[in-house]
Amino acid sequence: MKILVTGGAGYIGSHTCVELLNENHEVVVLDNLSNSSEESLTRVKKITGKSLEFYKADLLNKKQVDAVFLEHKIDAVIHFAGLKAVGESVSIPLKYFHNNITGTLNLLCAMNEANVKNIIFSSSATVYGDPLSLPIKEDFPLSATNPYGRTKLMIEEILQDLYRSDKNWNIALLRYFNPVGAHKSGEIGEDPFGIPNNLVPYISKVAVGFLPRLNVFGNDYNTPDGTGVRDFIHVVDLALGHIRTLPKLFTNPGIVIYNLGTGTGFSVLEMIKGFETASGKKIPYKIADRRPGDIAACWADPAKAKDELGWEAKKTLDDMCKDTWNWQNKNPNGYR
Ligand code: NAD
Ligand code: UDP
Repeated sequence: MKILVTGGAGYIGSHTCVELLNENHEVVVLDNLSNSSEESLTRVKKITGKSLEFYKADLLNKKQVDAVFLEHKIDAVIHFAGLKAVGESVSIPLKYFHNNITGTLNLLCAMNEANVKNIIFSSSATVYGDPLSLPIKEDFPLSATNPYGRTKLMIEEILQDLYRSDKNWNIALLRYFNPVGAHKSGEIGEDPFGIPNNLVPYISKVAVGFLPRLNVFGNDYNTPDGTGVRDFIHVVDLALGHIRTLPKLFTNPGIVIYNLGTGTGFSVLEMIKGFETASGKKIPYKIADRRPGDIAACWADPAKAKDELGWEAKKTLDDMCKDTWNWQNKNPNGYR
């Protein structure tokens, strides 16, 4: 199968490229490198011993997108490309709407014109807002609390409308929980520009000595230790979730929705402890105010993905922490 991976140079995209190549798929990557480096793709080739085709192209430039479909007979698209920083989306919402929505519309139009109607879309657990109960099932009510989340929700709705209008489309909405970790080789991993927003990249920058301490955003939540609880999922498990979704897409299922999570929540303090054990480094931290917009706890019910895709997350908290540390320690400056 020939798979177009938008955003394939990014964190989840590069790990998915590895698993696609391992499964002998042909891979074409489209990425504008706005939040990534081409070096990640060099490392993907090194890990797999296989090649892929790379287009440095922007989804906002429809001609560049069309060119890929003219040059390749694509069987399915895995659409990772997008901006993803929640805080930034609050301060520059138009950039987020333009990039994520217009970029997706250009992609969908190009696909329609090329008669390529199979797509896996990177959605997020953020579309559940603050859930009324846990674990979260796919049919829970949806809402958005920030422009980033709203782009995910809007794209889900655009894809629903597209399917209603043309039943030849096959669309998988994969709602990721909290991806962490790195490939076990330590060759690829998450490489945020600047100070990380997310917990695990921040912890690993503290462990490697680039940041003095972690701020724990609140210890007065209604959770066992008072700190926030999330469903952290190893990025390789997540990548494999896409691989397992592809055969489903080719059974002409119409539109399908799956949570990709482990089903288990860990608190911020548990993550600090797990990372200290895995890295042998002390993680200094201080309790700070709650971060505006954060919810107390969030974890998935992943049963639907297990039943219908035969997929479930296998890696442990220790794997997530060890692999993050291995990547960080081998590449203190990321790909730079
Ligand atoms: P990432 O930033 O590492 O990867 C996204 C890639 O898309 C980057 O390589 C970037 O250069 C590229 N890109 C952005 N805009 C583009 C455009 N207009 N044209 C071409 N390329 C463009 O992010 P990631 O963590 O790998 O996330 C991948 C997807 O998964 C995103 O859609 C994100 O919203 C979604 N997601 C991520 C998380 C998470 O915590 N990492 C959670 C849920 C959902
Ligand atoms: N968090 C924290 N300090 C940080 C970053 C995050 O205490 O520097 C907490 C945050 O409040 C939340 C959890 O870690 O409870 C996961 O946050 P992250 O931003 O990684 O994911 P999200 O909030 O998007 O689920």
